[in-house]
Amino acid sequence: MSKGNIGVTSENIFPVIKKFLYSDHEIFLRELISNAVDATQKLKVISRQPSAANIPMDDLRVRVSINKEKKTLTVSDHGIGMTAEEVDRYINQIAFSGAEEFVNKYKDKTEAIIGHFGLGFYSAFMVSKKVEIFSLSYQEGAKAVHWSCEGDPEYTMEETIKAERGTDVVLHIDDEFSQYLEDATIEGLLKKYCKFLPVEIAFGKKKEWKDGKQVETEEENIINDTTPAWTRKPADLKDEDYDKFYHELYPTQMDEPLFHIHLNVDYPFNLTGILYFPKIKSNLDVHRNKIQLYCNQVYVTDEVENIVPEYLTLLHGVIDSPDIPLNVSRSYLQSDNNVKKISGYITKKVADKLAEMFKNDRENFEKKWDDIKMFIQFGMLTDEKFYEKAVTFALLKNIEGKYFTLDEYKEKVKEAQTDKDGNLVLLYTQDTDANYTYIERAKTKGYDVLLMDGELDVHSMSQFEQKAGDEGKLRFVRVDSDTIENLIRKEDQAKDNYSDEQKEGLRKAFEALIPQGEKLKYYVSCEAAAADALPVFLTQNEFMRRMKEMSAHQQGMSFYGQMPDSYNLVLNTAHPLIQDLVAKMTSEEVQEEVEKKDGEETKKETVVKTVYSLSGEDEKLKQLIDIALLASGQLKGEALAKFVNRSVELL
Ligand code: ADP
Repeated sequence: MSKGNIGVTSENIFPVIKKFLYSDHEIFLRELISNAVDATQKLKVISRQPSAANIPMDDLRVRVSINKEKKTLTVSDHGIGMTAEEVDRYINQIAFSGAEEFVNKYKDKTEAIIGHFGLGFYSAFMVSKKVEIFSLSYQEGAKAVHWSCEGDPEYTMEETIKAERGTDVVLHIDDEFSQYLEDATIEGLLKKYCKFLPVEIAFGKKKEWKDGKQVETEEENIINDTTPAWTRKPADLKDEDYDKFYHELYPTQMDEPLFHIHLNVDYPFNLTGILYFPKIKSNLDVHRNKIQLYCNQVYVTDEVENIVPEYLTLLHGVIDSPDIPLNVSRSYLQSDNNVKKISGYITKKVADKLAEMFKNDRENFEKKWDDIKMFIQFGMLTDEKFYEKAVTFALLKNIEGKYFTLDEYKEKVKEAQTDKDGNLVLLYTQDTDANYTYIERAKTKGYDVLLMDGELDVHSMSQFEQKAGDEGKLRFVRVDSDTIENLIRKEDQAKDNYSDEQKEGLRKAFEALIPQGEKLKYYVSCEAAAADALPVFLTQNEFMRRMKEMSAHQQGMSFYGQMPDSYNLVLNTAHPLIQDLVAKMTSEEVQEEVEKKDGEETKKETVVKTVYSLSGEDEKLKQLIDIALLASGQLKGEALAKFVNRSVELL
């Protein structure tokens, strides 16, 4: 038996391991099983050489077992094994060469250590008071070796007897980590980290139901799929296989994915994987099933924020790359060139796939559009390169449910919806019911209306205006943001013949009656809309409304968020009812009244009061205001009840 000190210059690294890696100690199992899988894969490579023809290759399973009495957890493999000399070289000397440097560097930054650093074999000491290795090398005439260490820099090494080739790593689990002696804990960890390892991992026996009880069978319980879909050739896979794998990846996910993208690069970096487009439910923050990152089929993390662009984190699936540096801090990841290239590659692949679907099967693409729209808009808004590609296939939907690219749509409405200054005005609604009367007005003019009810539509429209707007000549305006005549101004604009004073009187009359609120402001204006439009209606300024909507999603815009909602109450001077009111106000009878009261109050206010007092006109004014509110869905509660009663009385 030999004794020695483990080749670490830093005096006692074990307390450091325990302390710093504390919150991520479960990764020890991943590390040990990865080593066992590596040893097995190495043996497979060696066995292909003619000189190694007689190495028995029948049982290559890695086995994980728990001995509750002895309080041990064992990982066994039938891989290449180690000679005493190799244990000395790989375990005693080498394993710490990187670790020491690392620990010195990150002593004060626990965060940086947790997550992406595997200390390899030595992570076993995070949960064990003693670790033993029993190993027999595949090499002819090799002698088995037993290594033992109790969590200090001293170890013992001796020859032993071991019948089968390979390595057993035995962990004597610390009392405070007794959860690692529970079947359920270990099974859970194996499912998390080892589900797609390329060598079979066995843990206990398969169970089956017999006479209403679960009983163990003879068969070993294999916890992994050794050839997950992403490692196979796309040509060998059907859509069903991709769907099946999706559910293997996310066992609790019920929905089918919309479609998938199989990634496969070997230059300038290695990367394989499958990305799925899920049905995105409205909330952007919900990441229930995240993209999982693997390194040679070993699960690493589902925090891929630094590896794929933010909008792609909405996708599901796996990325497997041995080239992503896993053992370094996050800020380093962000500046790593390989990582940047990977992110660029994925963006391109995703954009190409979408472009291809759009081109080859537009009908199907349109069917999926509503589900993938938010993702694409998010990408366009946050990634310049993606925008450039996506603008050719991003769709707009009109209220009839027809889909157009931006260019197609511009072409469609160009003739009818270009105003006298050459601006192309695209009309939209966010709610066809609420805007019903406005939409009908637009239709009578031969205009088309888009449905923009998505969460990112407001931002998306602003982006189109800036980027695809032909020097500011493209405008999106909601159908209710002004009179239809003003939304798209043509040369032959209708005018009324009223004096400013007459209009002022009219405005004051309405202003005195409209209900103002703290969070709700109404301004009154006169416009010669059209004789068949409503006599009084509401409009809402596009700019202010849009800013308010955008402020809900964006920091630094809260100023707009705090502004009250404001509306214009438009008095349609082309309507007979309004014309009638003006006539009444300027009638001799009223003028006389006004003259009489002159001096008491200002003239305009007098006119207003006088108009009211004339045979129930004030009731009519109230009724007109309520109709305008009603048409915009703003008449509610008590006001609505009063309106109904008043209507009955007027009848
Ligand atoms: P890493 O796996 O990152 O190289 P480890 O500390 O986990 O670092 O292991 C160090 C070395 O010990 C491995 O590279 C390998 O040569 C050897 N080793 C560890 N576990 C086994 C095993 N189960 N079978 C054979 N060799 C092993």
